[in-house]
Parts: sequence; C-alpha cells; structure tokens
Amino acid sequence: MTQAPIPSALLPTALPPTAAIIVAAGRGTRAGGTLPKQWQEIGGAPIVAHALRAFAGLYRVLVIHPDDRARAEALGAELVVAGGATRQASVRAALEALEGRGIAQVLIHDGARPLVGPALIARVLTALETHDGAAPALAVTDALWTGAGALVTGTRDRTGLYRAQTPQGFRFDAILAAHRVHPGGAADDVEVARAMGLDVRLVEGEEANLKVTWEADFARARQLMGAGMDVRMGNGYDVHAFCEGDGVWLCGVKVPHGRGLLGHSDADVAMHALTDAIYGALAEGDIGRHFPPSDPQWKGAASEIFLAHAIGLARGRGYALANCDVTIVCERPKIGPHAGAMQARLAAILGVEAGRISVKATTSERLGFTGREEGIASIATAVLTKS
Ligand code: MG
Repeated sequence: MTQAPIPSALLPTALPPTAAIIVAAGRGTRAGGTLPKQWQEIGGAPIVAHALRAFAGLYRVLVIHPDDRARAEALGAELVVAGGATRQASVRAALEALEGRGIAQVLIHDGARPLVGPALIARVLTALETHDGAAPALAVTDALWTGAGALVTGTRDRTGLYRAQTPQGFRFDAILAAHRVHPGGAADDVEVARAMGLDVRLVEGEEANLKVTWEADFARARQLMGAGMDVRMGNGYDVHAFCEGDGVWLCGVKVPHGRGLLGHSDADVAMHALTDAIYGALAEGDIGRHFPPSDPQWKGAASEIFLAHAIGLARGRGYALANCDVTIVCERPKIGPHAGAMQARLAAILGVEAGRISVKATTSERLGFTGREEGIASIATAVLTKS
C-alpha cells in the first residue's frame, strides 16, 4: 500500500488493512444533465474521481454501473466492481469481492460526496479502533416542521436528530455478515449494521462533505472546491523586429510573408510572450533566465523548447494550465487564416485541449512601430491552477 494522503498525525498509529468502497453505481440524474451526477465534472474531474482521490493509500473499490466500466477503469481504483440494482446490493457486491483479501476494516462512501476531507476520514478510522462501526453526522440545527400542501402543520423536536454522512466505517467481517442476512431496503450501511446489533459510534461530520444531488449542489461544491484551489496568473510581452526573410514563425506555425523576424532563436514572438506568461505565473523570471541568449546552443532554436520547459516546470509543481490567451499585434501578415493552426500547435505542445487556448490578433491602426511595420509585438496571459 502507498502512503495515504490523510496526514499520518491524524491516523491511528497502527492502521489495520483498510479498504474504501466508493459507491457510484446509481443512474441518478436529478441534478440535471445527461450523465449520472457522479460522472459530471467539477474542478476539472468527475465528482467520483475527487471522492476516490480522498482515499488514496487505502485499497479502493469503485462500485459502478456496468455501462460506466470504461470511464471507471481510467480513475485508478485498485478494484472496479459492477454494482447491483440498489445501493445496498452494490455495497454487498463490493464486500463480497473483498472477501479473502486480508481486509480488516472498510469505509463505505457515497461517490457523490467529492469534498470529504482527511480529518473527517481520520475521525472515522480512530473511532473504529474501539467500535464495530463509526459514521460522521451533523446535528440538526434548523427547526423541523411538518407540512401539508403549502401550510405548516406542526413542529418536531430536533433533539437527538442527526444528518447522516459518509464514509461509514465498519469491521469488515461484521459488516459483510450483516449485509448477508439483511432483507434489503436499508437507508444506508449504518442501518444494516444496527440491524445486526453492531454499535456505531457517531463522529463529527463536515458541512463541506455534501452529497451532490440537485443542480444547485454543483455550484456549491465548485465554490467549496475553488476555495481550496491555488490559482496563479502571469503575463508576457515580447517584440521582434522584421528582417530579411520569407516568413515569420508565430505560435509554432510558419506564416509566409515578405520578411522574417530577427532573433537569437526562431524569433517566435507570440510563443515567447506565452512562455513568459507561464514563467510569470510561477514567479520564475523569463525565457532569458532559463535559456540565456549568450548561450550559442539556443541559436536558431525552435521556441517550442522554451514553451515545453515552462509548462513542464508548472506540472512539476502540480499546476495545470487552466487557459491562456495570446494576442499578436501587427499590420501584416494577416493572422486570422492561421489562428486555428496556431491554437492546435500550442495545444499539442502544452498537452491541453484546444478550447483552453486562445490566439487572436489586432493591428495598431498604423500607429507606432507595429503600425509602421517595423516589427511584431505580442502579449499573452496564462492561468495555472492547482487543486
Ligand atoms: Mg523574444
């Protein structure tokens, strides 16, 4: 087993072999959209992928609908199991698949809860040291009413009432035995466990550990996820003068022109601006710092070396390119006919889909050095994110 991302200081000192069952077999589309909710994306990944990641380091069993197998195989769970017609049948299928694998305890989690935190998981694991079961919950704080039609018909005492969450943790043999004898129809695994007489310890839940059910939950989950996201922005600006030549390199595409651009490398002014934007977002200076013009090995170099270096530096620190926007300032050549090819070339170098990359152009109304066609300028902006 690899090291769990759950900080070791939070965990019991000797953690018994633990599996995490992520239940994602439902077809629920109450949240809107055509994909089941757990496969819709927030923060650049399917909801279930976030849930799965929270349990990295444990032996993770992803329970899916058979139609989703291809999607599920890509997520890196240790085991993928086809679920049943109900949630309870899906959990049972996962428990049966785990039998004989030396698992001592199991956490059972809703695939639609993407924001489960390490401290909450650790609280459940700690409580499992002394109880057959442990599950997070939040005390009900709102007043509770009964209603009929549009009218309030009464109030209910909320004392001792809790909102149940997951992961719900159990000793493995005990919960497997409980599932095998349960007749079905349980709301969750705590109900199955209690039917068997197991004691289940309440631990403190978290408001952020919401279950994405309705469309509004997506916005809330995105907002909560964004709050923990590191976002960095950088800009870049570059100018190269025209010289003798038969074309100019712009964003990795050679555009035929009656002149060339003067520079130590291939003088791809737009790619230089974009590269500097990425270095800028990382507070890593500019191209000149990483590829000194005094070094003869970069003479005539293809500028994609610089761009590939910058994005590699970003990835090495855990950042992904959210988007970038490149503007080329010149009277000629006309950029429009080549913008699609430039976008595709940058996407290939950066390893992102083309929709995250914008390439556009403007003239400067014949004003200034670009207007007099003495050279080409470019500005670029890049946004990097780490969640
Ligand atoms: Mg340059």
